[in-house]
Amino acid sequence: MINETPRVRFAPSPTGYLHVGGLRTALYNYLFAKHNHGKFILRIEDTDRNRYVEGAIEKLIEALKWAGLEYDEGPDVGGDFGPYLQSKRLNIYKQHADELILEGNAYYCFCTSERLTALREEQEKLKLPQAKYDKHCLHLSEEEIKKSLSKNTPYVVRLNVKPNQKIVFNDIVRGTIEFDSNNIDDQILIKSDGYPTYHLANVVDDHLMKITHVIRGEEWLSSTPKHVLLYDAFSWEQPFFAHLPLLLNPDRSKLSKRQGDVAVEDYRDKGYLKEALVNFVALLGWNAGDDREFYYLNELVETFSLDRVNKAGAVFDTVKLNSLNAEHLRKKSNNEILGMLKDEIQKSQYKNQEYSDEFLLLIIEAMKERVSFVSEFVITCPYFYEAPKDYEQKAIEKNWKSETPNQLMKFINKLRDIDTPSKSDYELVLANIAEELGIGKGKLIHPLRLATSGQSTGPGIFDLLYILGKEEIIKRVNTAIEKIKV
Ligand code: GLU
Repeated sequence: MINETPRVRFAPSPTGYLHVGGLRTALYNYLFAKHNHGKFILRIEDTDRNRYVEGAIEKLIEALKWAGLEYDEGPDVGGDFGPYLQSKRLNIYKQHADELILEGNAYYCFCTSERLTALREEQEKLKLPQAKYDKHCLHLSEEEIKKSLSKNTPYVVRLNVKPNQKIVFNDIVRGTIEFDSNNIDDQILIKSDGYPTYHLANVVDDHLMKITHVIRGEEWLSSTPKHVLLYDAFSWEQPFFAHLPLLLNPDRSKLSKRQGDVAVEDYRDKGYLKEALVNFVALLGWNAGDDREFYYLNELVETFSLDRVNKAGAVFDTVKLNSLNAEHLRKKSNNEILGMLKDEIQKSQYKNQEYSDEFLLLIIEAMKERVSFVSEFVITCPYFYEAPKDYEQKAIEKNWKSETPNQLMKFINKLRDIDTPSKSDYELVLANIAEELGIGKGKLIHPLRLATSGQSTGPGIFDLLYILGKEEIIKRVNTAIEKIKV
C-alpha cells in the first residue's frame, strides 16, 4: 500500500454543524492528500437514524467549502467510489455482514433488551471491569436461527471477537498499540433497524473506497482494534492509522461547548477570517519543527507531514486565534478589506449612510495595525462614521483645561485659510500654533483628539484629522467647546 497514491477521507456524522475538531481532522486529511498528490474524499456517515438532523449535510459541506477544503470525491461532486452517503449503501453493508456470518466471524443475536439489561446488571454486581455480551446467541443452532428469522424476531448482527488475542497495530502518531481481545465486546455490526453501526460501515467503506490512511481524532482510537478485527475477518489489508491529539480547553478539560464556541460556523459568524481559523487549527497538534506560526493554506500543504503531529492534547487558545486573525487581516490588501468593511457597515447602524470608497480606504489604512477583526474598523472608531455624542470623562479631566477652547479656536481659525489641507498641512499648522502659544504640541493634540473623536486613543492624530477633513473638524471642535464644561 505504501506506494499507492494516498487516498484519505473525512468521514463526519452530520450533527448540524462542523465542530472545530472536525475541521482540524478534515484539514489534516486535506493537507496530507495535497502534499502527497493524493485524493481527499468526503464521506458522510449518516447511519445513526436517531441523530438525523435536517439540513445537516448541507451545513457541513458549506462550512468545509467556506474553509477552502475542496474535496476530490464526495456526495455532491461524485467520484468512482460512491455513493458517498452511507445511508445509500445499506445493501453493501448487509452483503458484507452476511459474508462475516457465513465465515463464523459474526453472528445473529436475538437477545431481548430485557435480557441484555439483566446481563449488564449481573455483571455490574460482580464488579466486572466492563460489561460485555456473553455470546449467548453464538451458540444457537442453525435451526433456532432459521426459526427466529422466519418469525421476524428482531435481531442484531454481532462481531465474534475471539478471546485471548493480542490485537496490535501501528499508529503513525502513537507508535505500536496493543489491545487485548478479552477487553473487547462482541460489537454490534448491524442494528435492529437494519442499519450498520459505525464500525462495520466505516471499515467496509474505507476498504471499498481504497482509503490508504485513516486520519481521525483520538476519540476513535478505542474503536480501532475492532476495525482491525474486521479487516482481518475480511482478509483485507489494513490502512495506515493516525489518531490526532485531543483538543483541550485552556484548563485542559476536553474542548466543550460549555467553555466557548465549537462550531466553525460560530467563528465564521463572529467575523474570524477563514485563513486565520484554518491556520490556527493547523497548529492544534502539528508544527513544522520550528516556531513559525503564520501560514496560508498552500504553505501548509507544502510543509505538512503526519510525522510531525504530536501526541499531547492541543489547547484551544483563543488569544492565539485572535492574534492570527489580526495578522491575516493585516496581510490583506486594502481593497480586499474594503469589500468586507462595506458588508460590515451594512450590518451596522450606519447602513443607510453613504461613504465613498476613498474615505473608507483611508480608514482602513489608518486602522489596519490596530484592529484584529473587520468589525473593529467600525466599532472601535465610530467617530469616522458620525460625530461623537459624548467625550471620555477621564480624558476631559486630564487634558481639557480652561485655556483649551481658545487654543483650539486658534488652530481652527488657521485651518480656515487653507483650502483642502493635506496631512502635512495639519502637522504644520499645529506646530505653528503650539509655537505661537509657547506650549507643547501635546497640549493641542490631546484636546483635538478628544473634540473630534470623543476618545483618548485612536490612530495617529494627523491621520484622524486628515480623514475627517477640515469642515468636519471645525464643526466638531465647535461642538466640543460648547459641550465640554470643566
Ligand atoms: N463518523 C465518525 C465521526 O463522526 C468518523 C470517525 C472516523 O474517521 O473513522 O467522526
